[in-house]
Amino acid sequence: MSIVDTLTSALPAGRVVTEAEDRKAHAHDYWALEAIRDRGPEPSPPPPCVVYPESTAEVATVLEIADEQRVPVVPYGLGSGVCGGVRPGTAAIVLDTRRMAALLEVNGEALTARVQAGLNGAECERLLDERGFTLGHFPQSIALSTVGGWVSTRASGQLSTRYGNIEDMVLALEVVLPGGHVMRTFPAPRAATGPDLRQLFLGAEGTLGVVTEVALKLAPKAAWHQGFAATLASWDDGIRISREILQAGWRPAVLRLYDEVEAQRNFGTWVQAPAPLLLVMGEGTEAMAPALEIELEAARSACRARGAKLLGDEPLVHWLGRRNHVPSWDQLLAGGLVVDTIEVAATWDRVKPLHAAVTAAISAVPGIIQASGHTSHGYTTGVNIYFTFVGSATAPDDQERLYRAAWAAAMEASLAAGATIAHHHGIGRVRREYLARELGDRGLAVLKAVKAALDPNGIMNPGVLL
Ligand SMILES: Cc1cc2nc3c(=O)[nH]c(=O)nc-3n(C[C@H](O)[C@H](O)[C@H](O)COP(=O)(O)OP(=O)(O)OC[C@H]3O[C@@H](n4cnc5c(N)ncnc54)[C@H](O)[C@@H]3O)c2cc1C
Repeated sequence: MSIVDTLTSALPAGRVVTEAEDRKAHAHDYWALEAIRDRGPEPSPPPPCVVYPESTAEVATVLEIADEQRVPVVPYGLGSGVCGGVRPGTAAIVLDTRRMAALLEVNGEALTARVQAGLNGAECERLLDERGFTLGHFPQSIALSTVGGWVSTRASGQLSTRYGNIEDMVLALEVVLPGGHVMRTFPAPRAATGPDLRQLFLGAEGTLGVVTEVALKLAPKAAWHQGFAATLASWDDGIRISREILQAGWRPAVLRLYDEVEAQRNFGTWVQAPAPLLLVMGEGTEAMAPALEIELEAARSACRARGAKLLGDEPLVHWLGRRNHVPSWDQLLAGGLVVDTIEVAATWDRVKPLHAAVTAAISAVPGIIQASGHTSHGYTTGVNIYFTFVGSATAPDDQERLYRAAWAAAMEASLAAGATIAHHHGIGRVRREYLARELGDRGLAVLKAVKAALDPNGIMNPGVLL
């Protein structure tokens, strides 16, 4: 019997879908290279079926059957991944988690919640907000992504400096492993019970199993938000100010530094002459307001001490209004523009040369019009840089060549500058060939051994990460 027939007879009616439209919608994620390929003669083909399980037990049934029949499985949240984490081809089935989308429990005393992994991010935040809480995780793609997708890609939200990244918010996980075995980690505030098994699945990109439930740490809903913008004499000044604020112990929810190119592109109303721009915003409960005011004043003082020009909060309000804008690859490509973003991170001592090296390397690629960057996730030890490139090419072949060359330039320059190759989008297919250079041969061998132990038949999302 074919995998489609076996699954159809093993699961309740309506779970296995073979309609052309559904299959086509699951042929790939939001990777820009797939949008380029869709314009050429060989777009990524659709899978034989999409399975929509409605419970952990049904996910277990799917993985048991797929493992027995050695059929690859590609887990799918909402397909907003940008690294090629979803490309089933004609052999793999897609397991779409969107019907597992319940808020199962909120515990106000412990400040925790339990959700099913297919819950849409914006819906998760709305349900928590109604109850007086926030998760504090606000990726630009919040309305296009799921909690399980966040876990699987090690995502970061725009307010990460205050609330942390997704790995800081996950209290416990339920995961279905190949063969259909269900594993649950223990929901303790901390434990010293051997290596932390949650971490295996944070960033596994569907290669080790399917995340089905997530216990999350919450924060009280914020009621106080204030901030300001400042223009600076140089990018180096902005980096130094950001470092000083964070190393002094402050944690403004937003701390973003745009280079001259991005400051003019995004804040042209306020930045007429070329200058980098810093955005700072504090947020928290009313009870925290006095401390947050002091934090904001400390950030203003750090800016003043380096001769920055303070601009008030209009640029911040402008950014808050546009921060979840989703670019249409199709529109840009049809207009002859090849665009993508590449996020890396480095310790403070390496950030200045990193920005210079990566923008120069991308700019040297024939066809590139512009390369720029901003920081958006800061730590006491360092910061990420989120690079954007824009290139000009019209034929799909030329667009793909340009795209690959820009990525190769950025990856090589990042590695040479001592940066990690991925801050929060993951590896997928786009960074796969560079992973060994960061992990080292031994590190990669350990990762492969974990994969072989958990997924001996190699059915989980083959071609991704490793
Ligand atoms: C406009 C735009 C803005 C973005 N902004 C941000 C941002 O601010 N921060 C950020 O971190 N990312 C951002 N992203 C990237 C993307 O939204 C994240 O990677 C997100 O976490 C993916 O979630 P998803 O549910 O759409 O997962 P998918 O794209 O469906 O899947 C992503 C990967 O995870 C696997 N996977 C999904 N669900 C599960 C599961 N339940 N169990 C096991 N594996 C699973 C898939 O197989 C795939 O490998 C952005 C993307 C876009 C298009």
